[in-house]
Amino acid sequence: MAALTLFRQGHPLAAAAEQRRQLLPRADETPFEEKLAEANLFPLLATHIDTLQVNVGKMCNQTCHHCHVDAGPDRREIMTLKTMQHCLTAMESAKIGTLDVTGGAPEMNPNFRWFVSRARELGRHVIDRCNLTILLAPGFTDMPEFLAANHVEVVASLPCYTESTVDKQRGDGVFDKSIRAIRRLNDLGYGHDAALPLSLVYNPGGASLPPPQATLEATYKRELAERHGICFTRLFTIANMPISRFLDDLQKSGKYENYMQKLIAAFNPVAAGNVMCRSLVSVGWDGQLFDCDFNQMLDLRIGHIRDFNATTFATRAILTAQHCYGCTAGAGSSCTGAVVI
Ligand code: SF4
Ligand code: SF4
Repeated sequence: MAALTLFRQGHPLAAAAEQRRQLLPRADETPFEEKLAEANLFPLLATHIDTLQVNVGKMCNQTCHHCHVDAGPDRREIMTLKTMQHCLTAMESAKIGTLDVTGGAPEMNPNFRWFVSRARELGRHVIDRCNLTILLAPGFTDMPEFLAANHVEVVASLPCYTESTVDKQRGDGVFDKSIRAIRRLNDLGYGHDAALPLSLVYNPGGASLPPPQATLEATYKRELAERHGICFTRLFTIANMPISRFLDDLQKSGKYENYMQKLIAAFNPVAAGNVMCRSLVSVGWDGQLFDCDFNQMLDLRIGHIRDFNATTFATRAILTAQHCYGCTAGAGSSCTGAVVI
């Protein structure tokens, strides 16, 4: 167990991790890095970069309870065109195949369409992390046609197939609007046509782990088809991360410790070996670089996109902390769902 020895001998990365451990309210749980070391994964290293995940701004037309970005209508942080250009240059120089655009509601960035079009012209696969309701908002109703014309993959949050659960988590009326938006996408071929994938995202309503992805996907497909006549390509199950708005909720309801213990008890070494940060880099709205969207919310910076160096970043040591237990519990969790299928 060379990794465990490294960790116990006070490797510099272990000392730095100890400081990051203080980022979460309780610091006396088993350090995440110790679990990594037991699985022979300490320090956690990137293996390659196949995805650049870009947060183009925190502005959103919704204010969901679980939002780890703290996005909302009052947020004004927006990525500039110049920073988008840096992202495209980095993708070309490092031969990164996928641009994963997120927010807020990414479509609300005034340069969203330019960014997507340029990436497609460069032959990149583009993912739009869409909240669905934005597709019905004034000024955005032609967005589905734009996405379809550019063969953009749509990944959309729909935490349940029932109205009450979705509205509780994402706001009154969100379920109805989401179903209408999916119908619009279906009419354009999304969810039917292999070139127009529509993935839905499930996350638990509270302090529990997601159920098995394949089983839940089958239930979603049946229920949404029977109740609303809509279809989608696949379901991603994602765990709620103990940071930002969800962390506040956990603390207010006194469930924080119990949730963390649940995540720690479910630590899965196979999931740990497949965490998404090993193959992606995340870019903040101001061009700062992070190992993932969650580290972005904790401001764990690793550089700036204008100085992007493919060789260094593709083999970097990842900045882990206690919130990483959210990615390694059970079947694991990532922006593309479970990591152990
Ligand atoms: S739609 Fe997404 S970005 Fe907007 S508040 Fe909800 S979770 Fe956050
Ligand atoms: S939270 Fe981020 S850094 Fe930690 S394991 Fe998950 S993807 Fe990696």
